[in-house]
Amino acid sequence: MKVGIVGAGAVGSTAAYALVLQGTASDIVLVDLNAKLAEAQAQDIQHATPFAWASRVRAGGYADLAGSQVVVLAAGAAQRPGDTRLDLLDRNAAVFRQIVPAVLDNAPDAVLLVASNPVDVVTDIVARLSRLPPGRVFGSGTILDSARFRALLAEHLGIAPTSVHAYVLGEHGDSEVLWWSGATAGGIPVAEVADQLGRPLDEAARSTIDESVRRAAYRIIDGKGATWFGIGAGLSRIVRAINKDERLLLSVSAQTPDIEGIHDVTLSLPRIVGAGGVLETLKPDFSDEEHAALRRSALLLREAADSIKL
Ligand code: ADP
Repeated sequence: MKVGIVGAGAVGSTAAYALVLQGTASDIVLVDLNAKLAEAQAQDIQHATPFAWASRVRAGGYADLAGSQVVVLAAGAAQRPGDTRLDLLDRNAAVFRQIVPAVLDNAPDAVLLVASNPVDVVTDIVARLSRLPPGRVFGSGTILDSARFRALLAEHLGIAPTSVHAYVLGEHGDSEVLWWSGATAGGIPVAEVADQLGRPLDEAARSTIDESVRRAAYRIIDGKGATWFGIGAGLSRIVRAINKDERLLLSVSAQTPDIEGIHDVTLSLPRIVGAGGVLETLKPDFSDEEHAALRRSALLLREAADSIKL
């Protein structure tokens, strides 16, 4: 499988590295405004291949993206300490006006996987600029938030994270919604599992988990300036789901015709990912409180997207 990555900074190069370690891509092309950086990253990652899988990793221009099954869009400005993801919006919109036509000219059949923040709005911009069919453009959305939610619930319950099913929906950012009423283990709502196991999910436990999920990126940025390992691995996991046509259920961000009465908004919902990108979207069953929270998140994203004139 050939994978193109535009933006060879921390996130793009870590995604390439994860793809090599997982043996998902046979051919990886890194494109960056900073050609010297792309070349250096490609060589460094290529040197890992003898310890992993046979992958060809190289730097190139947009023409070298030809034949890519997936192009990961990880270019743009990095989030600075104190920045909200929406602060990045204006800076990144300009970048994608240049990148999207160049990618489409050379890889017209690729699935576009957006990683740049604010990921929901950038995904919306890329979808609007590309005019590709729905599903062919989507963003990493809340995959990490959901992974963290699952991990923290699993830890609280004393159950393997793979046995806990839980999603964070809406914006990848401050307004995100932890879908507590839909979280299950063994097909049983987590609150009930918690009671059965004598580890109740009381108000305090819930708010600790909520805070930990919602503030995770801020804490990492405070400590090391940016985040890249988690998202790099997550992007590689999404690419594998496309490559193997897994029909994997993930909370990824895509244009949504109608959610909570808001039309054409790009946000995360549980979606089936396989060959061709997002294949289906599930409609969650929310509590009243979750309905209201998701509506707030959708409205905020709709307003942010509307503020960008393309
Ligand atoms: P992150 O932490 O999100 O990966 P970085 O700043 O490390 O952020 O990486 C972003 C990369 O995007 C940089 O290497 C930068 O050169 C690249 N970039 C910025 N604008 C463009 C563009 N128009 N085309 C291609 N690459 C770009």
